[in-house]
Amino acid sequence: MTTLKEVVTFLNGKAPLAWQESYDNAGLLTGDPEKEVSSVLLTVDITEEVVAEAVSLGAELIVAHHPIIFKGLKKLTGSNYVERTVLAAVRHDIALYAGHTNFDAVEGGINTYLAEKLSLKNIRILSPKKGLLRKLVTFVPQEHAAAVREALWSAGAGTIGNYDQTSFSVAGEGTFRGNEETRPFAGTPGKLHHEKEIRLEVILPSVAEEEAVRALLEAHPYEEPAWDIFPLENAYPKVGAGAVGELETPAEERAFLQQLKATFDARCVRHTPLRGKPVRRVAVCGGTGSFLLKEAIRQDADMFVTADFKYHEFFDAEGKIVVADIGHYESEQVAKELFYDLLSKKFPNFALHFSKSVTNPINYF
Ligand SMILES: [Zn+2]
Repeated sequence: MTTLKEVVTFLNGKAPLAWQESYDNAGLLTGDPEKEVSSVLLTVDITEEVVAEAVSLGAELIVAHHPIIFKGLKKLTGSNYVERTVLAAVRHDIALYAGHTNFDAVEGGINTYLAEKLSLKNIRILSPKKGLLRKLVTFVPQEHAAAVREALWSAGAGTIGNYDQTSFSVAGEGTFRGNEETRPFAGTPGKLHHEKEIRLEVILPSVAEEEAVRALLEAHPYEEPAWDIFPLENAYPKVGAGAVGELETPAEERAFLQQLKATFDARCVRHTPLRGKPVRRVAVCGGTGSFLLKEAIRQDADMFVTADFKYHEFFDAEGKIVVADIGHYESEQVAKELFYDLLSKKFPNFALHFSKSVTNPINYF
């Protein structure tokens, strides 16, 4: 038996809620965490139609990209589609979960998945986020340094790019004097003690901070271990906005646009003037992406595949890149496949359904 809580913990573990944008409302929106889940409906948007689909399928959970509750609800009278959708979900005891900007931001999330769909190689985050890394420094008696180091690694510290188990150590001397209440690891209460210590440093994502401190306290032999946590200015390459990569074989611009239409089932692609250059490096951003145009140009991308560009924003390409706007819904449909991949691997006995409702509110005549 799998509870909703287990599913939510798993999904939030893949893309921590701390990584969502400040305006967002990702995560579990409705539902009793202790309830059993065995059938899940996957969708880009949650609408009344999608909830009805879940009811007919007997799905206990809807996993969506866009949170239906975005800015908060002050009443639930059914006066608009948001209220009616939430009411229907609650009435039928269907849990709603949204993996939104947290899943946009993470490596292995929507944008890197989008890049994979285009068969890009060497995929990385286009604009890595700052403020998500910490440096943890602690002071350990020499013979216990290895155990503390390993405990910190196991708690998620010490990974830099494709390297794990990174750390830095330097030998030094610590001093302490415990009062009569203490039972010090070394020395005698009431007497100044000198101890040969290792200053141990590891890097860690802020989301691992709590776990790392818990592991440190467990492995450290002192009654009162000393440790410092420093915020780092370094960008975290595994989290951020958009993605970028290269095509193995450069493509002709028109052929690439044609491929976009087919891959994302796009009725039309709005694009800036073609440059007559082969497409090699491609930047992508599912949904609204104009905020990343400068970065895509800076990184010499030939094409920027995204959505929601406004008339005047197209001018900003200035012939340095081709902006290809494939549509918001079209660019984010991959969210369903991503959730399918993640959930089917973790919960192989789940019944997973792709919603048949086309929730795209934009039609092309
Ligand atoms: Zn979106």
